[in-house]
Amino acid sequence: MDIKIKENLKKIFGFNQFRGNQEAIVDNILQGNNTFVIMPTGAGKSLCYQLPAVTKEGTAIVISPLIALMKNQVDQLNAFGINAHFLNSTLSKTETNKVKKEVLSGATKLLYVAPESLTKEENVEFLKSAQLSFVAIDEAHCISEWGHDFRPEYRKIKSIIAQIGDALPIIALTATATPKVQQDIQRNLNMEEADLFKSSFNRTNLFYEVRPKAKSDTKKHLIKYVKSQKGKSGIIYCLSRKKVEEIAELLKVNGINAAPYHAGLESAMRIKNQDDFLNEEVDVVVATIAFGMGIDKPDVRYVIHYDVPKSLEGYYQETGRAGRDGLEGHCLMFYKYEDIVKLEKFNKDKPVNERENAKVLLQEMAAYAESSVCRRRVLLHYFGESLNEDCGFCDNCKKKRDAFDAKEDILTAIEAVKETHQRFSLDHIVNVIRGEQNEYMESYNHDGLSVFGKGKEENERYWRSVIRQTMIHGLLEKDIENYGVIKLSKTSEDFLKNPHEITFTKDHDFDEMIENDEAE
Ligand code: ADP
Ligand code: ZN
Repeated sequence: MDIKIKENLKKIFGFNQFRGNQEAIVDNILQGNNTFVIMPTGAGKSLCYQLPAVTKEGTAIVISPLIALMKNQVDQLNAFGINAHFLNSTLSKTETNKVKKEVLSGATKLLYVAPESLTKEENVEFLKSAQLSFVAIDEAHCISEWGHDFRPEYRKIKSIIAQIGDALPIIALTATATPKVQQDIQRNLNMEEADLFKSSFNRTNLFYEVRPKAKSDTKKHLIKYVKSQKGKSGIIYCLSRKKVEEIAELLKVNGINAAPYHAGLESAMRIKNQDDFLNEEVDVVVATIAFGMGIDKPDVRYVIHYDVPKSLEGYYQETGRAGRDGLEGHCLMFYKYEDIVKLEKFNKDKPVNERENAKVLLQEMAAYAESSVCRRRVLLHYFGESLNEDCGFCDNCKKKRDAFDAKEDILTAIEAVKETHQRFSLDHIVNVIRGEQNEYMESYNHDGLSVFGKGKEENERYWRSVIRQTMIHGLLEKDIENYGVIKLSKTSEDFLKNPHEITFTKDHDFDEMIENDEAE
């Protein structure tokens, strides 16, 4: 590595060392290679493009969807003595012209651009005439409908880059990438060949827990919990603004120092509540997911999901705001299946494919909540990582679970996938195993298979859970080309030839737990 780079790291940014993959990433960009960075929030993505930008000739374009944060980012860079500007709809004509002049003079090292500004004809023309070093695409998951934050304008980025400079290196960065999203990003940006730098998503200091959400006493439970955390910072996420107001009020009347945060509040109030939280004048923020983007409070000790999130990506992001300082953080979710059904209803007016995507994401969320497998294993599996052991630091690891030897069940699951030629999703495979007669069975002749009905003694929920756990153990896998289709993995055939004992656990039955709870 160039000595100058290390020098700049210290001199300009004030850091003594690189973190994780940063050095390799910076190096790769300086060599002019397309680069794909997947790093959890807070790990230090910005430096990966900021440092090469100040080192290279010309201006780096940074595409970012967060208009509200652009000014902050640019101010921060300016404070480091770096010449940076932004271009978005908040600028006046005069301000825009001034920025453009700076860029054309060659002084600007980083230019932050909102995707909708990028697509404007006049800006494309302007960028064509500027001397550019590379293009960084921040929050690159916005390109994918499978992410939690799809932005249609992101789809146009590649064609715009092709117009302003076909040979410009591209660096895409994101904190959320399931294998499916990752593939979408690479395809859409035409950067399948890019060098990939993926950091682990394992946040070892976070304790994950799910508790049943009973009608009668969840609020009491919440108050008790928050009181037990007195003086510590926490975030409570709710689905609606109304719920945010209600819970914040409830906590306040119970003597807890809480404040609400959602997009419906006046901006002065929002800023005040956020600042009060950062300055520790408020212990708890009750918020919709509008809260947290770009907020870097290191000592958040707990994140509570009062309502179930819409996707595991969202859940991971939101819980990721706990324990940024590396000390323990508690991630607690209150769950009942009714909340999933409620969220599904919200999607009913969406176009068919969006609705279907949203539904798959929600079902993954429900499966996580109901699973009694180590939470960390499930989460990391979702992000395409595998943990070979239980973590010992989640509710499922701490609690005694209903365990059973799943050898025979795994064999049945693999057989069902194999005999149906690896072309069907979970629902159908489960129906085959349970011997559910329907029109598909008849038309594919699956009712004639030897595996048909082999597992009819157990219910649907049991088999879903078995197949999911089989996937977590890598003995079956989901085809990411064809979301939902379950295929054999490299180890499936091996297992068929040499089956061995594997312990699975029975899913939690939250409905039953909630009923018992309410009966007490
Ligand atoms: P991300 O975009 O991945 O969420 P940021 O780029 O905002 O993360 O960085 C998170 C924090 O880590 C920031 O406060 C940043 O200043 C700090 N940081 C980044 N790189 C380093 C480093 N090499 N040494 C020390 N601190 C760093
Ligand atoms: Zn665990």
